[in-house]
Amino acid sequence: MKDPFVQKQGFIIFNMILLDAPNLGSLEKEYAGKAIDAGFISTFGPFVPEFEKKFAAFIGADAAVSLQSGTAALHMALHQLGIGPGDEVIIPALTFVGSVNPVMYTGAVPVFVDVEESTWCLDPAAVERAITSKTKAIIAVHLYGNVCAMTALMNIAKRHNIHVIEDATESLGAVYNGKATGLYGTFGCFSFNGNKLITTGGGGMLVSSDSDRLEPVRRLINQGKDKTREGFFSDVGFNYRMTNLEASVGLAQMQRIDDFLRQKRKYHVIYREELSNFKRVIFPQEPEGGSGSWWLTPVRIMGENMDILRQRLVDLGVQTRRVFRPLTDFPPFAPFSSAEYKNARLIYEQGLCLPGSTLNSKEDIREACRIIKNELS
Ligand SMILES: *Cc1c(COP(=O)(O)O)cnc(C)c1O
Repeated sequence: MKDPFVQKQGFIIFNMILLDAPNLGSLEKEYAGKAIDAGFISTFGPFVPEFEKKFAAFIGADAAVSLQSGTAALHMALHQLGIGPGDEVIIPALTFVGSVNPVMYTGAVPVFVDVEESTWCLDPAAVERAITSKTKAIIAVHLYGNVCAMTALMNIAKRHNIHVIEDATESLGAVYNGKATGLYGTFGCFSFNGNKLITTGGGGMLVSSDSDRLEPVRRLINQGKDKTREGFFSDVGFNYRMTNLEASVGLAQMQRIDDFLRQKRKYHVIYREELSNFKRVIFPQEPEGGSGSWWLTPVRIMGENMDILRQRLVDLGVQTRRVFRPLTDFPPFAPFSSAEYKNARLIYEQGLCLPGSTLNSKEDIREACRIIKNELS
């Protein structure tokens, strides 16, 4: 057994094949140093607009608004659409709690629907069945960097005249029919939490297919401050702005994002090569037209107790995480449970996220596969 911890620059860190640890280096230090040297660590400074511009160009959006988190991005998307009490928002049962908490902030009702067994993302047929006269939006979560069946979802939304908000917090770099995830819905939301494809420590980004909707958001996240009247506040706003210090790290990460993406996709290929011949291992499938970013590669493994398997793998130096638990299992959301969520349950019970940190080498990933295969044989 490997020593599970090592010291690095005074911090105790995992000595393992890492799940999702951030990849920070000299460029991040240099840019953060510039922000500190200039004294621009807060909401003024050149890195914020530059980061927004680079990000927008990367995914092919006209513009982007940076925020404090992906959760804040989702909140502002819902808020800008005027969603509130009496409204319903459709959301997959299988996702991170950060997808649904913003719905609760608005006072709208979350309507949970099941995911597809193949993609692990929203089942369009289940979405259609869940639509009522109160439905205002669908939150399409591109889980683990896979892609939702966007053609079907967008058609349903159009037919019923409701908005799609893409939770692309895990799918930065994923594309569907040649267009980036986040560009299909009225809003696309991204996250730069420490474990995501790129990080700013904590942060988020909002893009919109209707660019008129972004300016009001810029005002809202800045306490509702009026742009044209000095010291005047025209709305109840939020303090959701990204800081220049955060954006400095983000800008450095943007210069490395192509490498990160290449690495993540390579890991995914290695996992498929090494593990897909095991009958008990099932990979999620990309929908037709979809090409995932595979922020993390998750698999289903049949016939294992996931908690026990996870512990055995930790002992062998392989850091993994269980798949998200169906949200309706949690007290705040249990009252909104309205179905069995059979696929979400199955995927939770059998699901495991494999090491995906870009600090791992390809050899690390092959080693993880060797250890996993050994455990499953
Ligand atoms: C990370 C994440 C969020 C929230 O992003 P934060 O920046 O951590 O607020 C929301 N939804 C999903 C699916 C996520 O993975």
